[in-house]
Amino acid sequence: AKARGRGMCCAFDASMQKEAEQRLRLEEDLRHALPGNQFRLTYQPLVRASDQRLVGFEALIRWHHPVRGLISPLDFIPLAEETGIITHLGDWVIEEACRAAAHWPDHISVAVNLSPRQLVLPALPNAVSESLTRHRIKPNRLELEVTESVFLGDTHGALDVLRRLRQLGVGIALDDFGTGYSSLGYLNKTVFHKLKIDGSFVREAAKNKETVAIIQSIVTLANSFRMTITAEGVETMADFERMRDMGCHQIQGYLFGRPMDFDKATELVRGGGNA
Ligand code: C2E
Ligand code: CA
Ligand code: CA
Ligand code: CA
Repeated sequence: AKARGRGMCCAFDASMQKEAEQRLRLEEDLRHALPGNQFRLTYQPLVRASDQRLVGFEALIRWHHPVRGLISPLDFIPLAEETGIITHLGDWVIEEACRAAAHWPDHISVAVNLSPRQLVLPALPNAVSESLTRHRIKPNRLELEVTESVFLGDTHGALDVLRRLRQLGVGIALDDFGTGYSSLGYLNKTVFHKLKIDGSFVREAAKNKETVAIIQSIVTLANSFRMTITAEGVETMADFERMRDMGCHQIQGYLFGRPMDFDKATELVRGGGNA
């Protein structure tokens, strides 16, 4: 039994080593991906709840790996964060999203996701400001999405950067609300203009009356702070009607469109209609 135990231990070590090697390789590939032009942004439509008209897009990054094919952000953003690559990558996303927005009319906004690590850099507001100027984008057309996790580290530093971004005139959205450490306290921090209710929460509401009640009270509170409220992950007409009737202003989800490439997004803007 002892020998077998040791064998298992060694097999475990071997698999751990393999995992570590794979991770190192992915990290190496990630360093080359930006100069290698392997990233693309996709754009998912946001519609106004009252009339289902297109009001903007959320930019979502994709990595087209030369060998492994399409890699989800869920599989490389954490690595980009740990390695610090996210700072360059994050600047690229902002620049690329502004470049796209320059092709769309003024009433179409574009939202970009920020990692907590980007907010510890005091240079971020300058980089944002430069991208806006370079592409002549009105600041209020750009929205930056952050999750509550930005407050787990250097809360004061993060708040300071968020306030400076807000002073530029860009919007700041509190993303994924209803997951993790969601705290109503953050709603009153005055830096957020928008609240995005997480898709898991939205879909849970279809099955659970308590969730409906919780969302209703969140919406009421956010409304009292004059925030815009977006429901994410809306997949069915029933989800849409429920969230609209509860007072959500904007809707995002597969019901109105999946993330799409720039050309498709531009067609959608021209058509002015639904995805
Ligand atoms: P997120 O910010 O919460 O983005 C929404 C995610 O939900 C996207 O996944 C989107 O494709 C997916 N989604 C949208 N509608 C629906 C729906 O109706 N049903 C379901 N089941 N899913 C829906 P995606 O594109 O895989 O992105 C995953 C996460 O990766 C994002 O979550 C965000 O946290 C992160 N991410 C994506 N792009 C960037 C980026 O440029 N920078 C950073 N830092 N993070 C990013
Ligand atoms: Ca987001
Ligand atoms: Ca989200
Ligand atoms: Ca998310």
